[in-house]
Amino acid sequence: MTAPLHEVNPAGAGRTLPDTQQGMRRRNLARVMHTVSAEGPLSRAAVASRIGLTRAAVSTLVDELIRSGLLEELGPERPGRVGRPGSALAVSAHGPAGIGAEVGVDHLAVCAVDLRGEVRARAVRHAANRGRAAEPVLAELRELVDQVVAEAGREGLWPAGLAVAVPGLVARDARTVVRAPNLDWRDADLGDLLATDVPLTVGNEANFGALAELWLGDDTPPDFLHVSAEIGIGAAVVVDGSLLHGTRGFAGELGHVPVQPEGPACPCGGRGCLEQYAGEEAVLRAAGLEPGEDRVGLLAERAAAGDEDVRRALREAGTALGIALTGAVNLLDPRTVVLGGALAALAPWLLPSLESELDRRTAGPACPVSVSRLGPEGPLLGAAHAVVRAVLDDPASVAERA
Ligand SMILES: [Zn+2]
Repeated sequence: MTAPLHEVNPAGAGRTLPDTQQGMRRRNLARVMHTVSAEGPLSRAAVASRIGLTRAAVSTLVDELIRSGLLEELGPERPGRVGRPGSALAVSAHGPAGIGAEVGVDHLAVCAVDLRGEVRARAVRHAANRGRAAEPVLAELRELVDQVVAEAGREGLWPAGLAVAVPGLVARDARTVVRAPNLDWRDADLGDLLATDVPLTVGNEANFGALAELWLGDDTPPDFLHVSAEIGIGAAVVVDGSLLHGTRGFAGELGHVPVQPEGPACPCGGRGCLEQYAGEEAVLRAAGLEPGEDRVGLLAERAAAGDEDVRRALREAGTALGIALTGAVNLLDPRTVVLGGALAALAPWLLPSLESELDRRTAGPACPVSVSRLGPEGPLLGAAHAVVRAVLDDPASVAERA
């Protein structure tokens, strides 16, 4: 057995508690936060009955959460009554916030989400990041982060953490971008390059998009495949409500699953990868259009107007997606496939061929395909909400920093 961990009790008593008691306190703080977050506003008594602790125990926990700026009281105080029994508790709209950031091939975006899940500040900038070194891109991202943190700060919010979504492979250390082919980054340590004093998490954009779907989507099941696109095709696998990371953290690279073994060469070193058929640029090429700004908008506009070349290109992209997804569906047996990111806007023209290919080829019953409501916002929101969820899951970690 390991020796009991002694740490200063942040409740202010200054005494040390053994490991088990500290662990219990942390878990109970989390239970209070989650209960108020899911069902609030609630009185202390209501929280106590929901989580099965005494009113006195809950009051101690609540007082700590209020002192740390994680909960706030909404109701009017009743003079002369200890503990203000009628006062309703809500998750604070003026305490810690999750800062989400996204590095896209042609844009940068940052937002601040409060503990109630509201976006309170946001900044987006077009930026031609393809082939640009990580240093200047991250310096620009840092400017946007500072701008959003300052804007959130004017509303009484402070950053509990920063999560950055990138279109590439991220190591399990959650800070090193091992490879981002469409940015041409290799082994970029964002911890060093961003030089922020806020706790940092770096993740693949498709993973954050899938988490956004899990947390914010309409009735998203706990087992699904999430497929999204920017220049590349990203995918993420959610099993029992958790992301599947893989040994090195690289799981979900559906874009590099071959759909034509002898097809065109791909930046990954392979041939005939899905991305070469269903990535935005591949579809534009197949439709005879020039890549430019707002590629997806252009495709959707032309397809809606009845442009047969664009419709055919999207049909073929749907077929390629269906072939690649068949392998994933047969292997993983998800409840649904969710199309997110840029693919969501193109769904009306992708879905028929995608679904028929998938139905024709899957071994079991047809796997339903749905379209994300979050669309291209998914990765950015998922990043910010990942920070918020971490605060709700372990409020003590934030309380100690507040
Ligand atoms: Zn490839």
